[in-house]
Amino acid sequence: MEFKVFIGLEIHIELKTKAKMFCHCGTDYFGHKPNTHVCPVCLGLPGALPVPNKKAIELTIMVGQALNCRINSFSKFDRKNYFYPDLPKGYQISQYDLPFCKNGKFLDVDITRAHLEEDTAKLAHLKLNGKEVSLIDFNRSGIPLLEIVTEPDIKNSKQAKEFLKKLTQTVRYLDVSDCDMEKGSMRLEVNISLGKDKLPDYKVELKNLNSFRFVEKAIDYEIKRQKEILEKGEKPTQETRGWDEKRQRTFSQRIKEEAQDYRYFPEPDIPPIRLNEKEIGEIKKSLPELPEEKKRRFTKAYCLSDYNASLLTENMKMANFFEGTASLAGEKGIEVKKIANILINRKVNINKISPEKFIRNILKEKTKPQIKGKDLNKIIKKVLENNQKVVKEIKKGKEGAIEFLVGQVMREAKGQVNPNQARKTLREKIKSA
Ligand code: ZN
Ligand code: MN
Repeated sequence: MEFKVFIGLEIHIELKTKAKMFCHCGTDYFGHKPNTHVCPVCLGLPGALPVPNKKAIELTIMVGQALNCRINSFSKFDRKNYFYPDLPKGYQISQYDLPFCKNGKFLDVDITRAHLEEDTAKLAHLKLNGKEVSLIDFNRSGIPLLEIVTEPDIKNSKQAKEFLKKLTQTVRYLDVSDCDMEKGSMRLEVNISLGKDKLPDYKVELKNLNSFRFVEKAIDYEIKRQKEILEKGEKPTQETRGWDEKRQRTFSQRIKEEAQDYRYFPEPDIPPIRLNEKEIGEIKKSLPELPEEKKRRFTKAYCLSDYNASLLTENMKMANFFEGTASLAGEKGIEVKKIANILINRKVNINKISPEKFIRNILKEKTKPQIKGKDLNKIIKKVLENNQKVVKEIKKGKEGAIEFLVGQVMREAKGQVNPNQARKTLREKIKSA
């Protein structure tokens, strides 16, 4: 039987502000002692008054604009009520019917909304003096948290991964978060269900997925699992499932029959927020050139291939370094295309060299003798021997992996090889091997 797959994502991202969302506590808590970055507001003590962080609102709107959302000129905060030890005041300040951003589109996926809320405390379950205990660290309480919700438009694990990669890249370009999943500054939830033609009346929520790789594997597993249940004429249980990396399968964590009632109501301590056209326009003007635009400009302005342009625009730092060297190259009569190839093939550590020094080195190389013939063959033989796994992949058809080997040859030869020559010889040797 054929089923349509419906996948929606919920992405929580901690915003990079100096202070927390509703108080003056610092956000630089990572690696610090528990409960050192706290005050009556973020501890949720009775009577403490929250004051919204303007910067966090601006960053939220920036992301919303990058996701082509409509920005609400009238927004408010709401209380989302639920009980859990990581939320001592019994509610989370979030946004319900009037989020800052809604109805966007990013890649082929419709964005339902992007709203701002506060992060909760962190629980640690451990054994202390032989007793099972749960400890609470409130340093994370009140960190500004951006939540992005998509429509169930995603059809498979590949599309989900691509969406998440591009989203992360964009958020990093905006410099609003480092999106570090290991540190927990980005957390993902996947809603997935299968239906004959339209969205079915159940959904499975996948949680605690700590990497894009796990997202991919968990989705593939769920599609198979749910399909088998549906083919038996049964309906998958509405529940939350996690990913078990050891056993390579999802497992049930919590069964939720119905949607929880959070009894949302407007936060009485924070007045609604109005933004006029001019203010929204000012924020829009502050957006940097985004990855797709930059890539398009690089291909045109520097005559780069699509592939090279995407590598050089992977992050803002690399893009800026490349452009810095490109303008110097022009002055010195070096081809910009050549600069691009060197940056990519040699995996230059741009954190350790300035564009000026980089160009000086290239000028020096120009006068150095090039390694050719037998000496080049020797280097290539060594590189192939040391990277047999990569060679196998290339033979299987992963042609792009040749660039890695070119880089290795360039390194061995201390740059004294023409990369095109190296690539050509590598191809010949791999073919004939
Ligand atoms: Zn505080
Ligand atoms: Mn949330």
